[in-house]
Amino acid sequence: MKVNQSEFIISAVRPEQYPDDGLPEIALAGRSNVGKSSLINRLISRKNLARTSSTPGKTQQLNYYKINQDLYFVDFPGYGYAKVSKEQRFAWGKMMEKYLLQRKELKLVMQMVDIRHEPSKDDKMMNEWLRHHGLPLVVVATKLDKIPKTRRPKHIKIIKEGLGLRSGDLFVAFSSEEGIGKDELWEIISRHAAV
Ligand code: GDP
Repeated sequence: MKVNQSEFIISAVRPEQYPDDGLPEIALAGRSNVGKSSLINRLISRKNLARTSSTPGKTQQLNYYKINQDLYFVDFPGYGYAKVSKEQRFAWGKMMEKYLLQRKELKLVMQMVDIRHEPSKDDKMMNEWLRHHGLPLVVVATKLDKIPKTRRPKHIKIIKEGLGLRSGDLFVAFSSEEGIGKDELWEIISRHAAV
């Protein structure tokens, strides 16, 4: 997809703040620091629209980015960050859960994992939960450029097996640094958002 326009809309802390224009929404979920902001910036060919966070776990809201007049990227609070209280975690969890189960504009969840590591307990739980609820899902393995080419297939296999993906489940290996996987991911996004 050709992106002509992209803008940050809002950090929503309450559902009343979500946009009400009915455009399709694509959610990004994953651990803090997994590369969500970098992926958004790469997809829209901007250096710094989505803030790359040096302080993981700081995003406690749903960050809405509008792409052309076509769709929104909705950046989720990174899960699995140790230094927040249980109460805070619970509150985020509830907000995410409500959004994911009730938001009719939601067309696709991009679950992001770091290609370098085996999926964590949180990654596995999130993946199971999303599938259990039948949410449209693509798993995106980030930071592909950090793995030498010859070792990539092995890492991809570890991620797929760790999450129990089957053939036919959507999966993209991605590098924000080099742009690998960008076209493939846009194709999946466009198809789900019907744009
Ligand atoms: P977020 O917390 O999920 O939004 O993660 P960021 O996008 O802020 O990325 C966390 C760190 O990983 C930053 O230092 C990024 O520069 C780096 N990073 C993210 N994606 C990539 C990638 O594809 N390749 C490389 N080499 N570094 C990446």
